[in-house]
Amino acid sequence: MCRHLGWLGRPRSLAELMLDPPQGLLVQSYAPRRQQHGLLNADGWGAGFFDGQVPRRWRSAAPLWGDGSFASVAPALSSHCVVAAVRSATVGMPIEASATAPFTDGGWLLSHNGVVNRDVLKGAEGAESVCDSAVLAAALFARGVESLGEVIAEIGAADPAARLNILAANGSRMLATTWGDTLSMLHGADGVVLASEPYDDDPRWVDIPDRHLVEAHDGEVRVTALGAAR
Ligand code: GLN
Repeated sequence: MCRHLGWLGRPRSLAELMLDPPQGLLVQSYAPRRQQHGLLNADGWGAGFFDGQVPRRWRSAAPLWGDGSFASVAPALSSHCVVAAVRSATVGMPIEASATAPFTDGGWLLSHNGVVNRDVLKGAEGAESVCDSAVLAAALFARGVESLGEVIAEIGAADPAARLNILAANGSRMLATTWGDTLSMLHGADGVVLASEPYDDDPRWVDIPDRHLVEAHDGEVRVTALGAAR
């Protein structure tokens, strides 16, 4: 399934985060190391970043490796808070920019790595696309991203086959869940990276266990187990 990446810390360029690392999203788009579902992430890419309090997005339905315009501009786009992804579309889902993460409600940027049965999702009327991830994003925005852990446990109980790795940020907080797929964290002095897989061989990368919630805020990170839905 897709691969995503989030950053919260000192301003860094989109090139530094997505394109330059030896195993960054660019390389993960054609040679991911830890992907369990799908071989390539060629069905689009998205880069979302906060410009002050305003989330801005650049998304495409084409492979990241072919986008020379993005490669040219990405070194000049810097932000303290970034959510980016490369996509491997689930069978039957449309291949279009509006189906590609990150999704937004104007306050959060959100990415989904996984698959979910849309029939179990409620309150998703404003979805940008019929893609399951877009419908899930709309449902999470409607419920409130602050209660991400609780809502993911509920959806996971309603659809036991779902894989629900979420990555979301609002400019000052970054949240992520693991539910069926990989996630790693690099917590340095200048910020926190959360990524579906490490983008380099830095020994400080830590793997987050399955069914956990990660919350990063003000340089602090908390990792807690996700309970079964009450
Ligand atoms: N199901 C989503 C889609 O089709 C996400 C797929 C993924 O994680 N690869 O876009």
